[in-house]
Amino acid sequence: MTDKFDLLVIGGGSGGLAHAQRAAEYGAKAAVVEYRPLGGTCVNVGCVPKKVMWYAAHHAHQFHHAPDYGFDVTLNGHDWGALKLRRDAYIERLNNIYASNLDKRGVTHIKGGARFVDANTVDVDGRSYQAERIVVATGGRPIVPEIPGAEMGITSDDFFELETRPKRVLLAGSGYVSVELAGVFNALGSETHVVVRKEGVLRSFDKMLSTELMQAMQNSGIALDTGVIPESVHKTGDGMVLHAEDGRSFGPVDALVWAVGRAPNTEALDVTQAGLQIDKDGFIPTDEYQQTNVDNIFALGDVTGREALTPVAIAAGRRLADRLYGDMQGRHLDYHLIPTVIFSHPTIGTVGMTEDEARAEYGDDVKVYTSAFTPMYYALGEDKQRSSMKLITTGDEERVIGCHVIGEGADEMMQGFAVAIRMGATKADFDDTVAIHPTSAEELVTMR
Ligand SMILES: Cc1cc2nc3c(=O)[nH]c(=O)nc-3n(C[C@H](O)[C@H](O)[C@H](O)COP(=O)(O)OP(=O)(O)OC[C@H]3O[C@@H](n4cnc5c(N)ncnc54)[C@H](O)[C@@H]3O)c2cc1C
Repeated sequence: MTDKFDLLVIGGGSGGLAHAQRAAEYGAKAAVVEYRPLGGTCVNVGCVPKKVMWYAAHHAHQFHHAPDYGFDVTLNGHDWGALKLRRDAYIERLNNIYASNLDKRGVTHIKGGARFVDANTVDVDGRSYQAERIVVATGGRPIVPEIPGAEMGITSDDFFELETRPKRVLLAGSGYVSVELAGVFNALGSETHVVVRKEGVLRSFDKMLSTELMQAMQNSGIALDTGVIPESVHKTGDGMVLHAEDGRSFGPVDALVWAVGRAPNTEALDVTQAGLQIDKDGFIPTDEYQQTNVDNIFALGDVTGREALTPVAIAAGRRLADRLYGDMQGRHLDYHLIPTVIFSHPTIGTVGMTEDEARAEYGDDVKVYTSAFTPMYYALGEDKQRSSMKLITTGDEERVIGCHVIGEGADEMMQGFAVAIRMGATKADFDDTVAIHPTSAEELVTMR
């Protein structure tokens, strides 16, 4: 027997759930195939547990600064295991909420792994399901390099399984996952070392952010080595050692974390059965309407290789449902000016073009404003963590096309500025906005 649906979504993560639920609200008979707990990467091994760990690290920093404000604090340590128990319980609550949200909307949850039989049919553990439309939202997974001994390392997924904090940790990778996890380990007391292949961290972001973050990481005690191309990993009596191609070695450490990128989950899908094209890295190309090369198959979220962020997957999923089931012709996600935050220590908030991108596109028609200062929070103590900001404008009207902030509060600052920039705000609009004092954000409207 074959079950029939209007819509079958493969992957119950951020994008898949958002799409299926919105489609069901419009009346579609929808099902979601998912073999892991509902919520996908973000809820189970991404944004959510990561932010919990960031909060823990943030507490550690605040305890450190408490004496500056007159507190006599005696800290008796930190119980990583106890934090994990509470964090896991929270995630489980979220998994259950996702399940009941599907229930409420009449969306069927098919538990298992899906693979295509043809363009309208998928097989889940030997049972066939047919649908008029199929949406692939299978996300991605962390990459482990193919070098001898690499399997001794762990990934960001495994980070969330750690029952105790490793005393010495080495993170390989320059992206946001690496710097975020490094910040957590370091703040909670691990001896932390980061190695990157090229010249620095966060290379796709504005150079100011990369330079300032590397400085802040080193100031906080994180060891950072550049130009490290991993060659092999060996176990010694005292832990793991990473050997680099140029002869350097790093360690011994108790945990080695690979944070070297993510690969799309398309291998198990048997895409050729549906005639579905994937690119050389396994991502599913789509047009701006999330349409794949097959008429009735759509893809969204990380599996498409676009900005790998939860709100991007959700927005693409909801808009696709609006268009396909809600009669909103032409509705689709505009992938420009997507703001993002990096939960490093200090945090980074960013939207729009980097200075290099702006100069490549607009040449001399670019004007850049910067500001660097020590926020008032640090005024009373010895620890002086700098904040840096950059506004990038173009044209005579000085339209703001990029805004980059690193420092205290950058995470909560960027959302509102992203709205203004999306609406086409100019430098004069920023200048005409009365500052909120005393804050760090006010620097963005008082730059000269
Ligand atoms: C450590 C880390 C931190 C992050 N932090 C942030 C953050 O702070 N902010 C942010 O916006 N984003 C963050 N992200 C990125 C965010 O998690 C992803 O962009 C988002 O989850 C993508 O959603 P998705 O729906 O495309 O895929 P996913 O959420 O990955 O969901 C895909 C689902 O498909 C399932 N699946 C795969 N193959 C099959 C199959 N064959 N059959 C059935 N089910 C299948 C998987 O089990 C998974 O549940 C983070 C990611 C990581 C790894």
